[in-house]
Amino acid sequence: MADDQRTTGSAFELRAGSDGLATLTFDTPGKSVNVFGRAVIEELAQVVEALEERNDIKCLVLLSGKPSNFIAGADVDEIARITDGKEIEEAVLTVQGIFTRWENLPFPTVAAVRGTCMGGGTEIALASDYILISDRENVRIGQPETKLGIVPAWGGCVRMPRKIGLTAALDIILAGKAVRPKKAFKIGLADALLPDARFGHEVRNFAQAVIAGHAGRPRKTDFKRRLLEGNPLGRKVVLDQARKQVLKRTGGNYPAPLRAIEVIASGISDGPEAGFAAEVRAEVELAISPVCKNLVHLFHLMERSKRNGDGAGDALPVDAAAVLGAGVMGGGIAQIVADKADVLVRLKDIDEDALAQGLEVANGLFRKQLRRRWLSKPEAARKMALLRPSLDYSGFGSVDLVVEAVVERLDVKRKVFADLERFTREQTILATNTSSISIDLISAEMERPERCVGMHFFNPVSKMPLVEVIAGTRTSSAAAETVAAFARRLGKTPVVVKDGPGFLVNRLLGFTMAESLWLLDEGHSMEDLDRIIHDWGMPMGPLTLIDEVGIDTAVHVGKILGDAFGDRLTFPDWFAKLVEAGRLGTKSGSGFYKYSGGKRQSPDKAVYELLGIRPTVSDPSPERVADRVLLPMVNEAARCLDEGVVASAGDLDLAMIMGTGFPPFRGGLCRWADDQDLRELRASMERLVTEGGERYAPSAAFDRAVEGGGFYATFG
Ligand code: NAD
Repeated sequence: MADDQRTTGSAFELRAGSDGLATLTFDTPGKSVNVFGRAVIEELAQVVEALEERNDIKCLVLLSGKPSNFIAGADVDEIARITDGKEIEEAVLTVQGIFTRWENLPFPTVAAVRGTCMGGGTEIALASDYILISDRENVRIGQPETKLGIVPAWGGCVRMPRKIGLTAALDIILAGKAVRPKKAFKIGLADALLPDARFGHEVRNFAQAVIAGHAGRPRKTDFKRRLLEGNPLGRKVVLDQARKQVLKRTGGNYPAPLRAIEVIASGISDGPEAGFAAEVRAEVELAISPVCKNLVHLFHLMERSKRNGDGAGDALPVDAAAVLGAGVMGGGIAQIVADKADVLVRLKDIDEDALAQGLEVANGLFRKQLRRRWLSKPEAARKMALLRPSLDYSGFGSVDLVVEAVVERLDVKRKVFADLERFTREQTILATNTSSISIDLISAEMERPERCVGMHFFNPVSKMPLVEVIAGTRTSSAAAETVAAFARRLGKTPVVVKDGPGFLVNRLLGFTMAESLWLLDEGHSMEDLDRIIHDWGMPMGPLTLIDEVGIDTAVHVGKILGDAFGDRLTFPDWFAKLVEAGRLGTKSGSGFYKYSGGKRQSPDKAVYELLGIRPTVSDPSPERVADRVLLPMVNEAARCLDEGVVASAGDLDLAMIMGTGFPPFRGGLCRWADDQDLRELRASMERLVTEGGERYAPSAAFDRAVEGGGFYATFG
């Protein structure tokens, strides 16, 4: 193969061989991933123009020069910045034009995907004749646009259904999904699945087969699918069903997936040109919407959190770990450590049955991955074998990190930490998963308290993305950074918070829960409360949440918070009565709600009688209920930032979204407050003071945020 050309500082390198096989390597200088920013797009236009003139090329392979990334998609900073509809229209039309010219090049094109391929990366791959994918485990291909509040507008909505059929395309585009290589091949998105070890070689073979006319035709949707989706009636059924599901999942708060359905429908019924035009119209509307800007803001918060981990200064390596307590949390933590960190995990409990139960929880989670084909049988068995159950501390001398998840009692935790000091090496980091006990109290009697740190997972461990890393006053930076780095290794988002009652997330949630209980006390019905807050965008209403957390746990944490914050945070006297009556929530099969077969049914009217209250408020104002539930939390958020419980408004927002499911489309608690105009929120707090008392009074910290021009302007 003879060398062709490369302009210094450019992102593309074209090499064409005398055999007609050419490669175009995308490798943005100075960046770890390839993104389609403005300059790259301009260059690609020139490359395509030059390619159109080449008559010596018989097959062109598109490659990436990055080791683990094919193309990450559009430049998200540009999406964040853009506010002018005309500018969006021009930008989208430009790229659509380039990709169409790519599609029409006078020779076959092959996209050779050997790393993450997202958004625009997938769209140029779809505009190629063939997509080849490596079978490397961490390769993903997808269209995440709807997660950023936009639709795939560089041809993705039009070409994806043509390649893989309507149902599979909806599945990917509406959820903003990325799929694994095997799945990509199975659904027909990739034309070949190639062994990673021989990827370059196999790609070349494939391209030579294309030149020789032996490669076969690119895969298209299969006959059965075409039967259902190819006729207007079948399509209508599929599209209606998709719309219903999106509405159920998003409550209509996320416009992008709904618009994507319309755009996809237009591309199928009216042809590609109409589909491209519909993509442009949708993008012009969506990319300037507040929902898109808030989702892009969240994307940036997540990226910043990942970057914080780059070369984490003092973090120690973790090659073996232990989990103490094999209960609800311990079993889940042990499983995720074996699965994601892929290290040996000692799992210790004092109770043999609990140990068996913990292992069963872990086994169940691995089985689920097996069913979804995320793991092969031997892999699942190997990972399960990393879990080493025991009733004593054997092997603890060789672990680098212990996560304690025993019962929530200070005396038990202190005893366990004393044991750990005896049975582990001096440098082993000792983390606690406590949800309410101060790290300083737990470590008070330790010889080396600097190695004690909070590592607060949320329930269920496998699903909740947040880990609060709690630094006590004597916690070393090595301990905090090791735990933060390890949380990232587990695929979690760590947020560092200061020791104190409820740390960050439970402290803020405490205010919402207390207000909801007071609203119930004042005559709001359980249905109304949960419906209004769920409609506002929270993943569940506050009473459902209390049932999920466990009413006994909520009462216990409520007491700790109440003791710490006095009149500012009180709970109705009747709250503990529910526990006395055996109503512990989901886990006991009765709480605010009725349960049948473990499934939540309707609110249980017997609760009113038990608590001596009555639902008297008919037709409550959603705005007023939302104010009551949200404003105390906003007020407390300002205090947390002022006290340095969390470093920045961005970290607070990330923690609330990842730890409580605070609606991403609102960008986070502080961002939502900033969007509302803080002076108006302050006026609403004053109104609540008149109606309900001093506990709603704006805090000095909140006033600082008002004077400073917002949470983000004041607290970063
Ligand atoms: P759990 O009651 O389900 O499990 C606790 C386990 O610890 C039991 O299996 C028990 O046998 C075992 N245990 C007790 N003493 C022990 C000892 N000395 N050595 C070893 N094992 C011992 O409790 P859980 O819900 O898993 O909670 C565990 C910890 O996680 C608590 O600190 C809790 O506050 C915290 N947490 C719980 C949740 C939640 O939603 N459940 C969420 C976040 C944090």
